[in-house]
Amino acid sequence: MGRWLLDAADLFLPRCCSACDRPLMAHERAVCLPCLHDLPRTGMHLQADNRVERLFHGKVAVQAAAALLQFNRRGRVQRMLHRLKYQGDQAVGLELGRWMAEALRTSPRFATVDHVLAVPLHPRRLRERGYNQSQVLVDGFRELWPLCLPDQGLMRVVRTTTQTRKGRWERWTNVKEAFELGDTRPLAGAHVLLIDDVVTTGATLEGCIRALLCVPDLRVSVCTAATA
Ligand SMILES: [Zn+2]
Repeated sequence: MGRWLLDAADLFLPRCCSACDRPLMAHERAVCLPCLHDLPRTGMHLQADNRVERLFHGKVAVQAAAALLQFNRRGRVQRMLHRLKYQGDQAVGLELGRWMAEALRTSPRFATVDHVLAVPLHPRRLRERGYNQSQVLVDGFRELWPLCLPDQGLMRVVRTTTQTRKGRWERWTNVKEAFELGDTRPLAGAHVLLIDDVVTTGATLEGCIRALLCVPDLRVSVCTAATA
């Protein structure tokens, strides 16, 4: 189907809530009002030593960390993230990013953040998906909190190892992805907020943070849309 036909279809198909699939009202954006009120918000951005922060204890230095929502299998949060990652629903990603900015802006714990950076996606996956879901979150975030955005090529994935054949313990202790940095001079002394869609064991974020902490006097904080 031609691009113009797809655009025309957008005009006539009802927009649906990315969390519950019910049709959206004209004033609703990506998620319907009942879902918006029922989403399991963690409040972690206001809590020191929260569950996500503790994932990094003894591994890498993190200033502050938080996940906006609690992930429930087969729940609304799961549906939203699935649509963002696998169904091309960038609107829900932008909305999640805006909510993350709304929350973090009210938290003194994140007050000194001055740069925001998406966890990069492996180039192969980027080609398949056409976009980096974490970058979509960053784009939404910056609509409400326009922090500096380091050069998009600043950090890239240099290696991913397949995890499926490893035992549970190994999977948890292995850093899944290795990251490489480009020219980091503009980041010296900065406080970078690293954004990703979901945090489970924290292994991917840990790899990213390790790479970033090679920059002199850099501080890192973390925010994800959800935590498992
Ligand atoms: Zn809904």
